[in-house]
Amino acid sequence: MSTERIDVPVSNFIRNIIDEDIRTGKWAGRVETRFPPEPNGYLHIGHAKAICVNFGIARDYGGVCHLRLDDTNPEKEDVEYVKSIVDAVRWLGFDWNKGGQEHLYYASDYYDKLYAFAELLIERGKAYVDSQSAEEMRMRRGSLTEPGQPSPFRDRPIEENLDLLRRMKAGEFAEGAHVLRAKIDMASPNINMRDPVIYRIRFAHHYRTGDKWCVYPMYDYTHCISDALENITHSLCTLEFEDHRPLYDWFLEQLADAAIFTRPLPQQIEFSRLNLTYVITSKRKLLQLVEGQHVEGWDDPRMPTIVGLRRRGFTPESIRLMCDRTGVTKVNSWIDFSVLEGALRDDLDDKAPRSVAVLDPLKLIIDNYPEDQSDTCSAPVHPHHAERGMRTFPLTRELWIERDDFTETPPKGFFRLFPGNKVRLRYGYVIECTGCDKDADGNVIAVRCNYFPDSRSGTEGANLYKVKGNIHWVSVEHAYRAEVRLYDRLFKEPQPDAGGRDFIEALNPESKRVVTAYLEPGAQQLHAEDRVQFERHGYFVADRVDSTPGAPVFNRITGLRDSWAKPA
Ligand code: ATP
Ligand code: MG
Repeated sequence: MSTERIDVPVSNFIRNIIDEDIRTGKWAGRVETRFPPEPNGYLHIGHAKAICVNFGIARDYGGVCHLRLDDTNPEKEDVEYVKSIVDAVRWLGFDWNKGGQEHLYYASDYYDKLYAFAELLIERGKAYVDSQSAEEMRMRRGSLTEPGQPSPFRDRPIEENLDLLRRMKAGEFAEGAHVLRAKIDMASPNINMRDPVIYRIRFAHHYRTGDKWCVYPMYDYTHCISDALENITHSLCTLEFEDHRPLYDWFLEQLADAAIFTRPLPQQIEFSRLNLTYVITSKRKLLQLVEGQHVEGWDDPRMPTIVGLRRRGFTPESIRLMCDRTGVTKVNSWIDFSVLEGALRDDLDDKAPRSVAVLDPLKLIIDNYPEDQSDTCSAPVHPHHAERGMRTFPLTRELWIERDDFTETPPKGFFRLFPGNKVRLRYGYVIECTGCDKDADGNVIAVRCNYFPDSRSGTEGANLYKVKGNIHWVSVEHAYRAEVRLYDRLFKEPQPDAGGRDFIEALNPESKRVVTAYLEPGAQQLHAEDRVQFERHGYFVADRVDSTPGAPVFNRITGLRDSWAKPA
């Protein structure tokens, strides 16, 4: 895999297990992981964590990570989601190629084998067809404190079980009439081990296998077998699967006893999920945001989906960096959203060219600057990379400045424009404010000033002027007028869905503001997905959907500082 890393991998308990396996030769040095999303929705930042863990470990150990579409719920899955998953993993910088072989798999490709193994389990007395209703099964399941009761069908003869399963498969029975269950232990303290269902009847069209099947295997049965069929060594998943591990092992042990698989068998290892403040990572709730039109789609730049983060302007490197920095543990905790924003700033500070944008424009008129004159000012593309060259832009008599860089009555410590004060126009001249023009309602519509012709930046005279304020500007005549979308966090609260509360109420009404801004003329040359730092404002990206050649629209990714941080 080609992904370069920014940070050094930190050791973690999973890597310790793998190191030990390598030391003992358990897998003859092989490390094969897998990322197994269900194609029933768009991937989100939580999945990015699982992707970075699985693909990252495979990369660092010279192994391979399989991308497996875990598609055993025909009703909810679709090829549209498969495509978006493939794109998201690629965009994050990973691939599933090793030695020229593509390791992209579908659980639905194993349906024939899974079914054959089910018959084998019956033959070995390890599975039976249960004909109780769902309600009867529930009543006999027991509870955390009480053991379950065996089904009256538990001791059906093997031949009868085989016959029923074949007829289930042939479509002779209605949905819910029978299920196939593993014969394990109805008294197990672990409810997952109380004869879990292996197959259920569903007359549903599957996006890949069509109408071939009317019995579909359950997740717990499919997952471990898929891992074993693909020779996965370490099956990494989130903590909620910890209680399923005995079942994972049970199925594989049965099939190893039946000489289907050889030992060692894949090992399931659980780690804690990523919880990010101000973010929701449940597909169901994200769907609610889309369907309720609280956002403009799955790729709305405020969505924590990979497509949303990409459109917002987050780089794959920043997402990987956040995943690395937050580590892998067994303890469920919340990561502050600022960790992701910090990773973005750390990534873009070095990469992003600088530019100027006036987001809330107010006209500045330099009264003593001749109307027909213009100066070509220049500034570095990047302050720490002289080799990236200079950018140039004209200075003219009328400029756009930020409305809040001027005030008639300055508060203490205000060093920018107010009558009588001097500031520097970045990369240009020192000016002295002389007053302002107002409309009939008393609103300031233009600021007046004079400039000092010998104060130009980069000339000797510049040092004669000591000013505390330094403001940005663009020429009225030359500015590129563009739509800029100022995004902020989608929720006002750090844990919008905590305690089962209605997260819709926690939506931030100011999560999107659209302004018409005036940009440095060069910004017009940026292409979709080009990122830039607008000086003093933060990081922006040319929107990948709405930008057209020669007419980019910009999204704010994040500010230069964490504006949500609590004052110290
Ligand atoms: P949802 O519950 O929102 O539907 P899911 O976790 O069931 O999502 P899957 O497609 O089954 O979605 O997930 C694929 C993999 O991603 C699983 O191995 C799962 O453990 C992992 N994953 C999902 N969310 C997170 C998260 N927040 N942090 C880390 N891993 C996650
Ligand atoms: Mg899942």
